[in-house]
Amino acid sequence: MISKMPKWIGDWLEGSFGPRLTVLDTDYITPAIKNIRFQGDISKMDFLIGSASVIRVSDTEYRNYTPTYYDIKKGVFEIIFHIHGNGIGSKYIDSLKVGDELYISSPRGRKEYDPNVKQYFIFGDETSLGLACSFLPVLKQNGHQFQFYFELDEGNKNAPQLLGLENYTVFPKNGSFRNEKWISDLPLFNTDEWNTAKFILAGNVKSVQTFRKVLKNSTTGKILAQGYWLEGKKGL
Ligand SMILES: Cc1cc2nc3c(=O)[nH]c(=O)nc-3n(C[C@H](O)[C@H](O)[C@H](O)COP(=O)(O)OP(=O)(O)OC[C@H]3O[C@@H](n4cnc5c(N)ncnc54)[C@H](O)[C@@H]3O)c2cc1C
Repeated sequence: MISKMPKWIGDWLEGSFGPRLTVLDTDYITPAIKNIRFQGDISKMDFLIGSASVIRVSDTEYRNYTPTYYDIKKGVFEIIFHIHGNGIGSKYIDSLKVGDELYISSPRGRKEYDPNVKQYFIFGDETSLGLACSFLPVLKQNGHQFQFYFELDEGNKNAPQLLGLENYTVFPKNGSFRNEKWISDLPLFNTDEWNTAKFILAGNVKSVQTFRKVLKNSTTGKILAQGYWLEGKKGL
């Protein structure tokens, strides 16, 4: 995915394809998790569950974020941001306030939700809370069995509860999800119950890769894995 382009191309694309969105409301769920509600003409946007929009975070830099709640009629949608403080995107998002305007692309990505799958297991970190929130209503409405696992910094451990998520387990972000043996001892693998679930893995690239490896060796379920960020790498 493109994370950088010359300013003049960005300006031209934005001018041609807009739309610019306005910040309608901001809310810090924790000091490091910010929910923003945007407003604008979103009538042509396609909010597929699990898809991501590109936000222009400087003249030349672009970053991916996952829309959660949306209402086409009212022209509003929300995104949950991890304010980690290490990058230009995080700092830009932290600075956004009511009335600011910015470029957000139409969401795009693969189809992650399949109504015919009975069980869903979703793993991630702060960057994946939005993914979980976009899945929750449809998982409940269509009677799926589901489970969320999150690895979170201490200060964010209450975020799933504050966001109204259900059926979740929070783990400290201490490197455990980089340990194959530790992952294979998780309760998830003590029973055959989740053997044919759909596994959606997001968040830190190393955690995603390790979890995926264990799942490949121990389940027959379908695995969708997409790392959202990697230590030392800009604009994944
Ligand atoms: C499909 C997709 C959907 C995504 N959805 C969301 C979303 O809904 N909400 C969200 O917050 N993020 C989401 N992300 C992740 C987000 O795009 C990255 O975290 C991105 O790197 C942030 O850009 P930045 O400019 O802040 O940091 P960058 O300039 O990209 O990176 C600078 C430094 O910060 C570090 N860094 C980047 N992200 C984190 C992090 N989360 N925690 C700690 N250090 C970090 C990098 O490793 C690097 O060392 C998504 C990513 C993808 C690919």
